[in-house]
Amino acid sequence: MPMYVFSCGDCGSFELSMPMADVGPAASCPTCLREARRVFTPPRLARLAPPVRRAMETEEASAHEPQVVSQKRGRQMPHQRSTTPPWVLH
Ligand SMILES: [Zn+2]
Repeated sequence: MPMYVFSCGDCGSFELSMPMADVGPAASCPTCLREARRVFTPPRLARLAPPVRRAMETEEASAHEPQVVSQKRGRQMPHQRSTTPPWVLH
């Protein structure tokens, strides 16, 4: 699915993956759940801003370990930072 960039006034920018038919001019921020405006940028940015990385790491943790996400959210996980991020193409 294509990635779309949204910008939250409080948390900065983040990306969401959704079907092209479902994307709108705004989406809920995954961090604070407020409305974030869509930013029109080319997909697959080579460099991600720090707020984007944080948002994506949060989404990855939620997707893979939903049962412990409430305990892990907000903690540092240094052992994951040395691995290749799942969104990097080889
Ligand atoms: Zn936010």
